[in-house]
Amino acid sequence: MSTVFSKIAAGEIPSYKCAESDKFYAFLDINPVAKGHTLVIPRKEVDYFFDMDDNDLAEFQLFAKKVATALKAAFPCRKVAQVVLGLEVPHAHIHLIPMNSEADVDFRKEHLKFSDEEFKAIAKKIEESLP
Ligand code: AMP
Repeated sequence: MSTVFSKIAAGEIPSYKCAESDKFYAFLDINPVAKGHTLVIPRKEVDYFFDMDDNDLAEFQLFAKKVATALKAAFPCRKVAQVVLGLEVPHAHIHLIPMNSEADVDFRKEHLKFSDEEFKAIAKKIEESLP
């Protein structure tokens, strides 16, 4: 089985890449709730976040921390929210969302729309802000 997110990490499906390492990959959510809404995934396929191996989970969290730091520098906000849902895509992922108020992490509101050029510029800004 190969999930859509595995294909994204392997470059088989296009994405707006923000960061990557040998084990993890970060890219823009295509249906963002806030500007800079990023998904962080392990390259290894595990559906449920809390089924991840302890060491992998710890490393995953540290990688997400690095991306969150870049996100905050690229898009100044009160805090970067970390959300784990996983109801749609069966491949563990962390949502990182620049947040100024609770409304910024409301998945039920109307999501934002960006052009291809805008998505590219957002991803570039995050990538350039990596520590
Ligand atoms: P969930 O599994 O409930 O955490 O939601 C999956 C998230 O992945 C949603 O926010 C989608 O907008 C996002 N998503 C699904 N497919 C893609 C894709 N091909 N590229 C970027 N984001 C995606």
